[in-house]
Formats: sequence, structure tokens, C-alpha cells
Amino acid sequence: MTRTLTLTDTVWRTLRLAGTRALPRETGGLLLGYYTEIGPHVTEAHVVPDPRATRIRYRRDVVAAERILRARIRADDSDALGYIGEWHTHPLPIGPSTTDVHASGRLAVAGGHDIALLVLALGTRGWSGHALNADPTESIETLKFSVEGTGNDG
Ligand SMILES: [Zn+2]
Repeated sequence: MTRTLTLTDTVWRTLRLAGTRALPRETGGLLLGYYTEIGPHVTEAHVVPDPRATRIRYRRDVVAAERILRARIRADDSDALGYIGEWHTHPLPIGPSTTDVHASGRLAVAGGHDIALLVLALGTRGWSGHALNADPTESIETLKFSVEGTGNDG
């Protein structure tokens, strides 16, 4: 069964807004949440600014990302909040690139755990989500994408 990456409606709105604001450049950051039987469920997303981002390139600042992650996980009382993976935008209607797939695989191997990647691609009808999961054996699985409560899977 294909697993699904789900986002809350609020997270989806936050990501689209961040993507639109950064145009014509890419932007991206971290996804936080928890895993369910159907796949990763994202309850928080954070922008990790990349001042050198271009229309075709976004690189996550590892130190800044680590700082945000630690602060958020420390502040969480639910104990349910964990690192899910990464997101970034493509100001073109193109999902994850070969480079994106390889980078996710490398992160999963280095971390010793699954990493989800969400790419927001911009088309004529606005942003759409494309998700994948990489595991520590560098196996890549395409995930369905769904926004909670809207029945919107695109
Ligand atoms: Zn990309």
C-alpha cells in the first residue's frame, strides 16, 4: 500500500505563503510531526532561510536547522513532536529532482532513520505537493500527498 504524507491545513497554508513570498527564488526548511500507520503526519513546518537561494537551488543551513529543531522539540510538552524531514519549493511545475532524491537518501543514511521530502511545485493552478520517503538503506518510496480535512490530494 502506498503511504501518505499528510499535512494540517495550517501547515499547508504556511508553506504556500512562504513559497509565494520567496518567489522567484526557492525556499525551504523543516517538517515536524509524527508517524502514523498511513505515513508521516506533519503538524509544524519551519522556514530555514537560505540567503543564497536561487530559482533552481535551495540549500538548508544545517546549523540553523539544528537550532530550530532542538528548540521546538524541547518546548513541546506532547512528546509527540519529532523530526519528519525537509521541504522546499520549486518555482516550476516539477516535483523532486534527481539531486533531491539523492540528497534525501544521503540524509536518511546519515541519520539512520527515515526522511520525508516534500516539494512544493508551482503550476498554473498554484502550489502542489510532491512527497517521498527515504529510508536508511537509501530506498526511495513515493508518498501520496494529502491535506487534512480538505479531501485535497493535490
Ligand atoms: Zn528540489
